[in-house]
Amino acid sequence: MAHAAVKKNEKKYGRIHFIIRSRLLKGLREKTMNLGDIADDEKLKLYLPQACSYCGTTQNLSIDHLIPTKKGGANKGENFVWACRICNSKKGAMDIIEWYQKKGQFPPLLLLRRYLKIAIEFCQEKGLMDTVLSEAPELPFSLSSIPTNYPQPGELTLWIIELR
Ligand SMILES: [Zn+2]
Repeated sequence: MAHAAVKKNEKKYGRIHFIIRSRLLKGLREKTMNLGDIADDEKLKLYLPQACSYCGTTQNLSIDHLIPTKKGGANKGENFVWACRICNSKKGAMDIIEWYQKKGQFPPLLLLRRYLKIAIEFCQEKGLMDTVLSEAPELPFSLSSIPTNYPQPGELTLWIIELR
């Protein structure tokens, strides 16, 4: 939905964006649709400089996990991002979305997209897609930290580079 709005440079989400979202949600529930391949993100990263995903520095980089392994995040490619030592230590035990929520910032779209994809795939694997939240088991990601208010398309950040 955000992707479509950004592509068309819309100032507000219109009816068409909500139709896209409803179709995607229905398709995910019925398993007739998949989210875009993480390989798209990986391809994009080849064009972008190797830099901290949070502040953009190219110094003192290490591999960070979107969802910390201590919370059950996977030790595999789609959960990896580059982070500098300073951001890594500031983020501490929080996951990426909790950290952005604490900072009062909207997360970059590519990080949010990966986070949501990991969360949705986890729920599909565990058969939790139609589970009421209060009855769900402990989850490795923080559903309450996922933003519910989205900025206007022109205010979104794709990665660490502004979209404008
Ligand atoms: Zn950094």
